[in-house]
Amino acid sequence: MAETKRDYYEVLGVSKTATDEELKKAYRKLAKQYHPDANPDNREEAEKKFKELNEAYEVLSDKQKRSMYDQFGHSGPNGYSNDFSGFSGFEGFGGGNGFGVDFDLNDIFSSFFGGGSRRGNTKNGPMRGRDIKTRIEITFEEAAFGTAKEITINRDETCDTCHGSGCKPGTSTETCKVCNGSGQVRTTQNTILGSFTSVKTCDHCAGTGKVISNPCQTCKGRGTVRKQRTIKVKIPEGIDNGQIISLRGEGEPGLRGGPAGDLYITVSVKSHAIFTRKGDSIFCNVHVSFPEAALGAIINVPTLQGNVEYDLAEGTQTGSIFTLKGKGIKGVNARNAGDLYFTVVVDVPKKLNKEQREILMNYAQASGEKFETGKRKKFF
Ligand SMILES: [Zn+2]
Ligand SMILES: [Zn+2]
Repeated sequence: MAETKRDYYEVLGVSKTATDEELKKAYRKLAKQYHPDANPDNREEAEKKFKELNEAYEVLSDKQKRSMYDQFGHSGPNGYSNDFSGFSGFEGFGGGNGFGVDFDLNDIFSSFFGGGSRRGNTKNGPMRGRDIKTRIEITFEEAAFGTAKEITINRDETCDTCHGSGCKPGTSTETCKVCNGSGQVRTTQNTILGSFTSVKTCDHCAGTGKVISNPCQTCKGRGTVRKQRTIKVKIPEGIDNGQIISLRGEGEPGLRGGPAGDLYITVSVKSHAIFTRKGDSIFCNVHVSFPEAALGAIINVPTLQGNVEYDLAEGTQTGSIFTLKGKGIKGVNARNAGDLYFTVVVDVPKKLNKEQREILMNYAQASGEKFETGKRKKFF
């Protein structure tokens, strides 16, 4: 949180010497004032204030925390960052460590945290289906030029027998008798601190508010059945290893009219015998003979579109890199294709016949080289 925190005494509008009684009174007054339900026109702001207020009161109403706060302020020694995460219902707040509340906070808390008004009842409402993730392996060329593939996935699909209702044909769902269709059960607990209401998801109907008395035999009341599906996937030109293709709505079906999830396909590109790829550029080696490198030659360079001729200059050194513009890959979102870079590798002959050997010796002599061939090779 980047914003500066207000002083807790200021939040409660009391002096530093306020007694417990004064603190409680101030808190009680402000809690009613800032309660989000009391501020329908300005709910967000009220929630913020309400949170701030509760945090201030939690610290100042605790003798030990208050004395720490008086000494160290917000920052330390450990801070009092009580950001309400994990706050569920009344339990958990203050945890019984001296949070003595003797007025009807239960109304505030049950409507604020457990109530149906704030977030809507997600258990009853439409829910988006889960996403499905899978992989597909394609060749280097398929990635470069694009292709169409079929993949097979297992997913839930709406049951044909009951059309998703989960009920045996001719029957329908009934309202849950335990929660009367609300999906939630309230329990009120009386304690010495007052009575507190907590709200729980109804176990009987799993929060849906409805029960199926005659389940569909095909899907056993689930409304969906597991099916194997083959899906056509268009692989776009230029896709790279690790990129993900998403197909909207091809995931698991939604619940209660919610939209289906998506299908995510991670593309794995097989390595190529000749080429490697980096972004939209491709790389390869081209082997040439010593005379070709020394004298210059028209050589064949492989590309994804087939061999092309290249005029190699005389005196080309091994390891020299040359570029063929536009012979790389056109990436998925690229306007133009990348380039092809080839590295010239000058091959040293592994075996020479007598004639070749003589010529090479003459060549060495003509170059003024003086050398001994070493012991491994008997010279004539
Ligand atoms: Zn069914
Ligand atoms: Zn129920």
